[in-house]
Amino acid sequence: MGLFSGKKGLVFGVANKNSIAWGIAQALHSEGAELGFSYAGEILKKRVEPLAESIGASFVEECDVTSDEAIDSLFVKVEAHFGKLDFLVHCIAFAPSEELGGRFVNTSRNGFRIALDISCYSLIALARRAQPLMLGGGAMVALTYFGAEKVTPNYNVMGVAKAALEASVRYLAWDLGKDNIRVNAISAGPIKTLAASGVSGFRKSLAYVGKVAPMGNVDQEDVGQAAAFLLSDHATRITGEVLYVDGGYNIMGAPDPSLMDGDAKGE
Ligand code: NAD
Repeated sequence: MGLFSGKKGLVFGVANKNSIAWGIAQALHSEGAELGFSYAGEILKKRVEPLAESIGASFVEECDVTSDEAIDSLFVKVEAHFGKLDFLVHCIAFAPSEELGGRFVNTSRNGFRIALDISCYSLIALARRAQPLMLGGGAMVALTYFGAEKVTPNYNVMGVAKAALEASVRYLAWDLGKDNIRVNAISAGPIKTLAASGVSGFRKSLAYVGKVAPMGNVDQEDVGQAAAFLLSDHATRITGEVLYVDGGYNIMGAPDPSLMDGDAKGE
């Protein structure tokens, strides 16, 4: 018997085996969860289907979260297949590549709209459809990043989208608490994935965080374990929170002096 035996849930955001969503899916599967997957577009089908198959998941459906019709038709299939849901995992983010580098002041109206729609509004849209299927209660988790609260150069409009996502987690937690549904976020440290590679200078940031964070870089498995905790009955009544899974990076005010170059006034 695992922590998730008899529990069913949906995982959004697997693009390939490096996706954080896949790390979370593996952690949930190892605890006995029955999973369904939804991916962004036809092109990802050949990547996601074999991964789902490898853990015995038969529900694998396309859904572009920018379309209300696509989300509605996905949830018709979800209801027919699963009947009820216990949890939902949101690992979806996107901004046009030209928005993920250069001067923030140049953020375009369209880039802002796309980033906020896909990376933030989608959580609200999916939560609304999942809520009626979470009979008697459930749990949701979304992925965020430190760039929501402190400036992370080049993360730019995604930082704004993540700030909105974190606020949405709190408002959803308030609203869905009535239905015994918990909603939390995990603020993960940088991990090399498809989405992360789109941010200018990502490799350098990853190396920097690896040196500065008390426990170094994190991986998909670390995030998977934390998500399993937040979605499980061990987290009963934890809601509206942002849990850092970042090797402790967020507690640091300055890097260890041994990592700094000497300055003109110093030695
Ligand atoms: P990833 O590229 O593997 O996953 C991003 C997913 O978003 C992909 O599966 C992609 O298909 C999906 N997506 C994009 N547009 C979509 C749309 N219109 N409809 C449906 N799905 C769409 O990268 P990842 O790093 O695993 O990202 C997962 C989550 O983790 C994101 O929210 C990301 O911001 C967050 N996160 C990542 C890091 C990191 O360093 N990798 C750190 C903190 C938070």
